[in-house]
Amino acid sequence: MAGVYISYPFCAQKCTYCNFASGVFPAELEPRYLDSVRTELRNTEWQWTPETVYLGGGTPSLIDPEALSSLLGEIPGEWPESTMEAAPGGITPEKALAWRRAGINRVSLGVQSFNTRELARTGRKHTEEIVEREVAVLRAAGIGNFNIDLIAGLPGQTLESWNHSLDRVVSLNAPHVSVYMLEVDEDSRLGSEVMALGKRYGAPDIPADDLIADFYEIAVERLARAGIDRYEISNFARPGFESRHNLKYWRREPYLGFGADAHSFDGTWRWQNPESIEEYLRGSKPERTVADPTGEQFFLGLRLSKGIEGDWSAFRPAIERLIRDGLLESDETALRLTARGVLLSNEVFAEFV
Ligand code: SF4
Repeated sequence: MAGVYISYPFCAQKCTYCNFASGVFPAELEPRYLDSVRTELRNTEWQWTPETVYLGGGTPSLIDPEALSSLLGEIPGEWPESTMEAAPGGITPEKALAWRRAGINRVSLGVQSFNTRELARTGRKHTEEIVEREVAVLRAAGIGNFNIDLIAGLPGQTLESWNHSLDRVVSLNAPHVSVYMLEVDEDSRLGSEVMALGKRYGAPDIPADDLIADFYEIAVERLARAGIDRYEISNFARPGFESRHNLKYWRREPYLGFGADAHSFDGTWRWQNPESIEEYLRGSKPERTVADPTGEQFFLGLRLSKGIEGDWSAFRPAIERLIRDGLLESDETALRLTARGVLLSNEVFAEFV
């Protein structure tokens, strides 16, 4: 069964590290945008009931609860998993109950760090206490299935502060954790500053690459000890709490995307809505491309910790070279990334794209 992705690119602030097509936009755009997404949903010929719904962004937790309910009301059926990304700092009991009533049963919290100084430098407004209080609010509203996002590599992060963030994740008994390594590119203010050797946004205080790799490996080890195992390069879960929606991407299962910049895949064709809100509102039609099934299945599946089964003889020379380099390993059942291969996964995937 397919998944549904809804993009809501509006945010209360633009975080320094963020390289998504999201941001602070004129307030009058928001109702027009929600109307367009609702129309897009209404005009879909639903010959199927989605298994998963995922509201990402941006900060969809900013959507007015009534507007959210009306949006989700356009999607048929009851969905086993329906996730909303949320920024800590505005989750009230009333909002959480309204989300639950609208059909949301999983919340992904953009926590990033439990260190107030690290958070403040990125533009995030929450604190450790706020996250703890809001997790309790979600649980009281019946949303016990939640994810905590962490970023390894924030300016000023130390071994001590990283371990503190992991302590809080474990003590909150999080069912799911995502650990991302900071991406330095020209699409974020922090990334551009680092590339220009500038001083703003704490750019000179970004930990060295080796230390960021250590943070990641400490997370893998400490979360596993707490029963939260890595099942994909950046994703960790207690058994049974893996993200069913995100697994669709890595298993190459179909999903339909709605809203600006949303991607879709119907099993054969891929397409992407216009990235800019204005262009999306103008109704520009996306171009479709045919996916390469073998290549995609291979490098998407390799992201999963259990690896991939099958006969990959088409890629044999590259596979043998990567095994010799210690980046891939195989046994009778599967081919998978080694611990070093996970850290250098972009280089591994570049061999097959
Ligand atoms: S990190 Fe999240 S909240 Fe911050 S700007 Fe990006 S999408 Fe918005």
